[in-house]
Amino acid sequence: DRLTSSGASDIERAAEAALRPRSLDDFVGQRVVRDQLSLVLDAAKGRGAAPDHVLLSGPPGLGKTTLAMIIAAELGVSLRVTSGPAIQHAGDLAAVLSSLDEGEVLFIDEIHRLARPAEELLYVAMEDFRVDVVVGKGAGASAIPLSLPRFTAVGATTRAGLLPAPLRDRFGFTGHLDFYEATDLVRVVTRSAGLLGVDIEPEAASEIASRSRGTPRIANRLLRRVRDWAQVRGDGKLNLAAARAALEVYEVDPRGLDRLDRAVLTALCTRFGGGPVGLSTLAITVGEEPETVETVAEPFLVREGLMGRTPRGRVATLETWRHLGLVPPADTTT
Ligand code: ADP
Repeated sequence: DRLTSSGASDIERAAEAALRPRSLDDFVGQRVVRDQLSLVLDAAKGRGAAPDHVLLSGPPGLGKTTLAMIIAAELGVSLRVTSGPAIQHAGDLAAVLSSLDEGEVLFIDEIHRLARPAEELLYVAMEDFRVDVVVGKGAGASAIPLSLPRFTAVGATTRAGLLPAPLRDRFGFTGHLDFYEATDLVRVVTRSAGLLGVDIEPEAASEIASRSRGTPRIANRLLRRVRDWAQVRGDGKLNLAAARAALEVYEVDPRGLDRLDRAVLTALCTRFGGGPVGLSTLAITVGEEPETVETVAEPFLVREGLMGRTPRGRVATLETWRHLGLVPPADTTT
């Protein structure tokens, strides 16, 4: 797994669990979403009723799962977790829904990947707190309505735009998480170091924060790698020198680019003269799956102004050439 990929493996999920904020007050940054959500939750608590369904959108690693857990904790109810890809058939979802207890929170990660029949079943469940259980087959089939307890659905998606409008409309509140400011990531790193029981110097926390692609998951991961370095090769101290040395070992550059990012940019400039070049061609050139380049490397590179997307393909920007220490062709203007 890449050090700067924003997704998490199952093993990493376990390491992450220890670092998760447990309350809204503990949740660093994202002031707007935090404020909005705390209103929704306080109002529901005041009324003694379950809140509206909540949709959380934003790139991986920014805290959607964490917020779902916090919502359940703040409401004092338990959380059930499932995901779009885990639900193969509408019946799987019906089974989950019918086993919910009153007031529980159902977290559906990657909700945009639900299959159509499950999605349709979910609309009805969210709106009418009912599922129609189909018994029998063909002409003799009939639907038996089954009423559900009042639950709160919390959906997470990397792109709210991918959700069909009818499903999106069932959510009373949508919170959009954006990449974190460096100052917030410094707080994330410092807080996590405290939980890991290690002292970190402020300069080291800033260094890690500035190389974390605006993503708490990556910040926590880099912190663990710096801790390893300090323990094995350093004197145990998490200072600036340790942070720099560790991140050099892991090939994370000062802007948070890693080897794949640099390979993509270098190919774009040196093999294709700055483009435009198609994504698949670019991916093959660096020996990666097009999907990996598209979902892992590209969004960050585009956001940083290090790659441009045009209808004819990917292009290098002036910034790309500069970052690689190369001279741009005379006609490069942006
Ligand atoms: P997502 O579900 O959006 O992919 P997660 O909620 O799993 O992201 O968060 C990934 C990791 O980042 C978790 O270990 C969590 O502790 C940490 N994290 C995310 N957001 C915050 C935050 N606002 N403050 C502190 N840590 C955070």
